[in-house]
Amino acid sequence: MTIEMTCPTCGSHDISKNGTSHRGKQNYKCRDCGRQFVEDPQWRPKPKETKALVNRLLQEKIPLAGIARATAVSESWLQGHANAVYEAVPQTAAVIPKPKGPLAVQMDELWSFVGHKGNKQWGLVGHGCQDPRNYWLPHR
Ligand SMILES: [Zn+2]
Repeated sequence: MTIEMTCPTCGSHDISKNGTSHRGKQNYKCRDCGRQFVEDPQWRPKPKETKALVNRLLQEKIPLAGIARATAVSESWLQGHANAVYEAVPQTAAVIPKPKGPLAVQMDELWSFVGHKGNKQWGLVGHGCQDPRNYWLPHR
């Protein structure tokens, strides 16, 4: 019988039985790192439905702790599973386009705005609108 266990410390599947605990639980020992641990129901192989659900949730960028609570899997198993999934599927970084164009509205647009309002007497002059000398000079 193959023991489908995952070492909670190093993630190795090379696990051997190591007697029973004083409570009668099966003891296991990791052959890779030597970690000893007792059987935990959550470490049993996950049903396909659970894995499929977990995989869908992983694509939703939900925190692992939330997925673990929603699907009743252990966070340690989920972490190992998520690492395997993310390694298998190359992640495409979300590209956020930088805002284009000048931050301030162009003076030309202000000119046309003022003009359409019918106020041809005053307007902004020049592009140095931070300079008070350029504010509201007589226009024509
Ligand atoms: Zn180990």
